[in-house]
Amino acid sequence: MFVTRFEPQLLTAHNPGPMTGPGNNTYLLIGGEGSAGLIDAGVGESAHLEELTWTLDARSARLERVLVTHGHRDHAGGAPAIAAAFPEAVFTKYPWPEEDAQYGVAWRSAGDGDVIVAAEEPLTALHTPGHSPDHMAFWHRPSGTIFTGDLVAQGSSVMIHWSRGGDLAQYLASLERLLTLAPRRLLPAHGPAIDDPRTVLLGYLEHRRQRERQVLDALRAGHDTVQAIAESIYDGLAPALMPAARENVRAHLEKLRTDGRAANEDGRWTL
Ligand SMILES: [Zn+2]
Repeated sequence: MFVTRFEPQLLTAHNPGPMTGPGNNTYLLIGGEGSAGLIDAGVGESAHLEELTWTLDARSARLERVLVTHGHRDHAGGAPAIAAAFPEAVFTKYPWPEEDAQYGVAWRSAGDGDVIVAAEEPLTALHTPGHSPDHMAFWHRPSGTIFTGDLVAQGSSVMIHWSRGGDLAQYLASLERLLTLAPRRLLPAHGPAIDDPRTVLLGYLEHRRQRERQVLDALRAGHDTVQAIAESIYDGLAPALMPAARENVRAHLEKLRTDGRAANEDGRWTL
């Protein structure tokens, strides 16, 4: 039986752009005793901080915890601004030392399976790498809700940044792991809430299988560089998104190489 009163409040990070869509979602939890927790830190936009402050004040609540799904700027970049405004808040994420230091806050590290209490609610940290090595989702078991960060975003696919620690095989395993939890609702960092998690997660897995077939077809057709394969698959893509598309293709190629289905010699890819 799921508890249904769990209603995180969506606060947009006010950072619209080609990679963030209308902007990142952050989620505020406020407990009955006035303790509050925030999932993801946004980028430090003043409108985000104002809404956060205003919402907390309206409920006479205090921000005690900020849980960050991963170290990408649109999720962690707002940490210093939030730390300055709410000095008592504790910032928690899975460690990614090369990235974490730039934000200048005293991160408290969390690992897979840790249960973190935020706003009087238990959130189980799930280390779900693939999109980034440090990615965590936060599972609120009593309501069947998972804060999924950048694992899924309804209506679009998720980029795997190979050159920044992205790993497609790990990403697929992370999606499979979410499926096994049979969640009732996913709250992603981009796009609307997902009320049919199983359908969406299976759709993501199928999308990746389809993409893998496209990469194999491109190799078969003689495209042998990341650039050529990306152009053959993402024909007509907005130029601003092309670097991310190349990262995705590279992630697929690296998975195929690990699987023994593709080879790379001096930057030339073959079957
Ligand atoms: Zn990300």
